[in-house]
Amino acid sequence: MASPRVVPEEESCTQCCWASSLNTRRTLNDITERPLVECTMIGDNRTCAYCLRHHNACEKVAELMEGDYFDLFALLRWSDQVALQPTRVLVGNSYVWVPLWTDDEKREIIKAELELMRMFREVETSHRVEFGMDVGKMRRVQTGAANVYDTAVRDRRAALIRLRPAPASAS
Ligand SMILES: [Zn+2]
Ligand SMILES: [Zn+2]
Repeated sequence: MASPRVVPEEESCTQCCWASSLNTRRTLNDITERPLVECTMIGDNRTCAYCLRHHNACEKVAELMEGDYFDLFALLRWSDQVALQPTRVLVGNSYVWVPLWTDDEKREIIKAELELMRMFREVETSHRVEFGMDVGKMRRVQTGAANVYDTAVRDRRAALIRLRPAPASAS
């Protein structure tokens, strides 16, 4: 059996992402850094430890929003970094590095990150509703929503390729 593997945040299942933001909100008083979303794939790489514990199938972010999910984490990591910035102050004759932000200010940054995650979740949910994809996987197939969505994904990919053709090979 393959060993457990923490996937990059932008590949995490949505259940782990939402659970992580709820957990971060709950523990906000005790933390000064956003805990990373740790979606840990086990065994066949189809289910993560969290979903296995909750008897769920892992739900990946809606395919048409994968790019936005990637951008969300890029933004989160950027503000994580901002919160860790040190600053130089003169003490006597020499400079020392001290944290730029107080713990309360760092928590304000984490709050803004949580707000971003909450808004992303809302947009992702209404995207699913719009496409009839807010139901179980079997039901999506039965209603034809899965088919319509797959076509939309293929159309988008084709449009992207037209916009940005693959570079001609160098040889
Ligand atoms: Zn997960
Ligand atoms: Zn999962």
